[in-house]
Amino acid sequence: MTTKPYTTQEIWFFTGSQDLYGPETLEQVAQQSQEVARLLDASADVPATVVWKPVLKDSESIRRAMLEANSNDHVLGVITWMHTFSPAKMWIRGLDALRKPLLHLHTQANVELPWDTIDFDFMNLNQAAHGDREYAYIASRLGVARTTVVGHVSNPAVTRRIGTWVRGAAGWAAANGLKLVRFGDNMRNVAVTEGDKTEAELRFGVSVNTWGVNDLVAAVAAVSDADIDALVAEYEDLYDVVPELRRGGDRHESLRYAARQEIAIEGFLTSVGAKAFTTNFEDLGDLRQLPGLAVQRLMGKGYGFGAEGDWKTAVLVRVAKVMGAGLPGGASLMEDYTYDLTPGAELILGAHMLEVCPSLTTSKPRVEIHPLGIGGKEDPVRMVFNADATDGAVVVSLADMRDRFRLTANVVDVVTPPADLPHLPVARAVWQPRPTFDVSAECWLTAGGAHHTVMSTAVGVEAFEVFADIARVELLVIDEATTRRGFADQVNWNKAYYRLAQGL
Ligand code: MN
Repeated sequence: MTTKPYTTQEIWFFTGSQDLYGPETLEQVAQQSQEVARLLDASADVPATVVWKPVLKDSESIRRAMLEANSNDHVLGVITWMHTFSPAKMWIRGLDALRKPLLHLHTQANVELPWDTIDFDFMNLNQAAHGDREYAYIASRLGVARTTVVGHVSNPAVTRRIGTWVRGAAGWAAANGLKLVRFGDNMRNVAVTEGDKTEAELRFGVSVNTWGVNDLVAAVAAVSDADIDALVAEYEDLYDVVPELRRGGDRHESLRYAARQEIAIEGFLTSVGAKAFTTNFEDLGDLRQLPGLAVQRLMGKGYGFGAEGDWKTAVLVRVAKVMGAGLPGGASLMEDYTYDLTPGAELILGAHMLEVCPSLTTSKPRVEIHPLGIGGKEDPVRMVFNADATDGAVVVSLADMRDRFRLTANVVDVVTPPADLPHLPVARAVWQPRPTFDVSAECWLTAGGAHHTVMSTAVGVEAFEVFADIARVELLVIDEATTRRGFADQVNWNKAYYRLAQGL
């Protein structure tokens, strides 16, 4: 069996029943539910180990099982299935206690009904059709957030959806306990990169704190020449490094300084246990370059990143990295930069000053050096490439709307740029937003979505939907089904819903 992307994390599989049926039927329930769990575990779509648990038949064992799931840090989430009828008042205390993501799997042991031989023993054993309705009633009555998936586990559409849920739950687990280092504060006067860091720790479990850039300057100064030699050799091996930056080139010292920054930042993050960070070109202290190549490389290693102090986008990049583990494609900080407004063929060119993650490309990036008009520092080194064309990618922003956080997502199709862009000195992605450019942008502006996003080409919008549902955070989706009127209505309804849902 191949290794699961989430090597140490588990999904616990709970089967509901009751004592009424007697030991013989319950033995069949146990065997058949083990088989369902085994098929899920064996599916390449499901990226964590699925662990079958003994059949639950009474209120106290259900409550105890949920408490054990809560307290086990390896457990990403819980799948429940009522193979038979499991009277749902037995589930009240357990569901009320559950703090892990929940998936309700509505399935059966069999695919086809044995029409020629079916008797009442078969009916008695295979009654999830109403057993799961009893269970879903109480889950809805209690307001339990969950994902519901319907179908037989041999159906790839079912395992794909379950796999996406596991990925969303893994993103949630990654946010919970995430430590984020801000080197300096936000870019002055920018609104959307601000936000309530205290509320973020409650809502997402992420700890956002600032270190003075002098701490990083000291770490940069302490990097050894031997470590820089080794990393520069790696750059020359992995990338198409322009001659002026190569060993012996006129500007090789600038590449060495970029390597020094990468080693220092990664060491700093490791020393405080952080998996995400921000920088700010207005607050670089004695750093000689804005970190470009270093940031790109660290995103490539799975760190979350936001520019201009944008810690909220850094959280999203980290979450997307974890959700996309093991899949083709990647995730990066992205910024809507400029448009091609040719009617009917509109395109968005996304990039940043420097910091786009090479996980978006399968090509060999060029490492180049160019002036940067802002920040007043030395020319920074950066990777330059085009993001791979791919359908069904997503850009997602996180904004603080005063009383809550709002995620806004747009499903987009990344395309090959229409020209070679020989004079554009940064990595970039070019995309067509769904449903159309004008509807997408009008809805995005109506939602107040940010100019910084995470772009994910590994997981699509469904994983973010799972993440938002688990976090109970608003998510506005712009996709092929979106209309202006419907979207504007949703924004207004959500204002009321989320205000009411907070309680007093
Ligand atoms: Mn920016």
